[in-house]
Amino acid sequence: MGKTKYIFVTGGVTSSLGKGIISASLAKLLQARGYKVAIQKLDPYINIDPGTLNPYEHGECFVTEDGAETDLDLGHYERFSNMPTSQDNNVTTGKIYQAVIDKERRGDYLGSTVQVIPHITDEIKYRIKLLANKGNYDFVITEIGGTVGDIESLPYIEAVRQMRWELLHNSVVIHLTLVPYLAAAQELKTKPTQHSVKTMLEQGVQPDIIVCRTEHPLNQALKRKIALFCNVEESSVIESIDVETIYDVPLLMLDEKLDVEVLRKLEMPIDSEPKLEQWKEFLRKHKNPSRQISIALVGKYVELKDAYKSIIESFIHAGTVNDCRVNLKLIHSEELEEQHIGECFAGIDGILVAPGFGVRGIEGKITAIQYARTQGIPFLGICLGMQCAVIEFGRNVLGLEKANSTEFNNETPFPVIDMMEDQKKISGMGGTMRLGSYECSIAPGTLAFKIYGKKEITERHRHRYEFNNKYLDHYQQAGLIQSGINTRGDLVEIVELTSHPWFVGVQFHPEYKSTVANPHPLFVSFVKAAIDHSTETIA
Ligand code: GLN
Repeated sequence: MGKTKYIFVTGGVTSSLGKGIISASLAKLLQARGYKVAIQKLDPYINIDPGTLNPYEHGECFVTEDGAETDLDLGHYERFSNMPTSQDNNVTTGKIYQAVIDKERRGDYLGSTVQVIPHITDEIKYRIKLLANKGNYDFVITEIGGTVGDIESLPYIEAVRQMRWELLHNSVVIHLTLVPYLAAAQELKTKPTQHSVKTMLEQGVQPDIIVCRTEHPLNQALKRKIALFCNVEESSVIESIDVETIYDVPLLMLDEKLDVEVLRKLEMPIDSEPKLEQWKEFLRKHKNPSRQISIALVGKYVELKDAYKSIIESFIHAGTVNDCRVNLKLIHSEELEEQHIGECFAGIDGILVAPGFGVRGIEGKITAIQYARTQGIPFLGICLGMQCAVIEFGRNVLGLEKANSTEFNNETPFPVIDMMEDQKKISGMGGTMRLGSYECSIAPGTLAFKIYGKKEITERHRHRYEFNNKYLDHYQQAGLIQSGINTRGDLVEIVELTSHPWFVGVQFHPEYKSTVANPHPLFVSFVKAAIDHSTETIA
């Protein structure tokens, strides 16, 4: 196919309407018609990336193969499309300004005044086109973060306005808004949508398609009204009603003909139906599981589900493969005390200790791991969770009193987890961890080998600390073996307990690679072990 077509997705009225899910769903539908599609998120905040953001601020930080710390929406893009994203798929205002200021210092603009228009907007347009050029895509879907009318999203909308002129028939703008239901009046209200489109018009952009997020079905009269006030065709008013699971949204958009509307506006052929058999089969299985299990997710951000987004979604994928509903019990590691641990984990078939940073909640995580280890409950430790498993084993099995990670206690007599050598010279915080995809060699005959079914794997990382190789033999002899190693850096990537039914700690983040089409083998095997544990408990 020749030229790339550009689809811009903006949001109005309020945040959290699900622009990311709509974008990912549209990508899925176009992909299911045989097109090559990329999705990109433009975030109007000034941080260079969300790597330095507390999860309370912005939810999980998603890590790409090439080691970019990105917005959690990229996780949705990958899970829906089964295509890896990269640093080009997430651009922030911080990155844009950094690039422009670097150019100014280099003297690239010598003589001219550097301004939002055209320099910042040119850089935004460059980043949008860069993605298209790199991948030779049929479609690039660009999601503009934030809400239309925000001061900080102005340059992005302006860049869209300019690109519309340049691209003519090769672009569409989809605007996602909220149609609220007023219980007292028993009515759906279109006024916020009208106002939000007016705000876009003031900025020179006329949306082509309006997707209306709603709790109740929109009738035809209402669609007609929105069409009339917002200058769009009636068929371009798309209903997006609340659904049971985000994985329903592509089918919902298919029913509402969002893909057809986009193709029609872009003057593309609409001669075949999207191939969605696998997706439909996944949904059928997901909604009709024949059994259920309970897994405890022990972390310190449990009030905020977005902080563990990829882990939660990985359980949906792995549960579905195992024909099983996974009920997740989120347990706050700071509130876990030894006295109540039995109560807390009653009826639990598996324990996952989450990734994280900082000392808060560490002792609770260690207590949870001790319980999983001594009670034979399937255990998966991810990154910090793996490091805590090493600390727990050191203290309670090897007798290394006060064993710790130097992240939490620099003075510990037994630094079983220590900062990686090349991290010791680094002082800056942003983008300086061991990030992205690294190789791992798995030892044959181990549980890890059984799970992956191969010797060489790659997984994504985000950490500064690491198993201290000084203690390798001591641990190995006592049964906590290192079953996965990065041979280049001589780093331990996987540990497992030989005397336990299923006890695995991984220094990497398997959750970033689990998709609907490719559920992650570690999660699939962990859920399977939890199912076995639950049937044993019943018998
Ligand atoms: N804080 C730990 C480290 O930096 C673990 C990081 C994580 O869990 N992602 O190594």
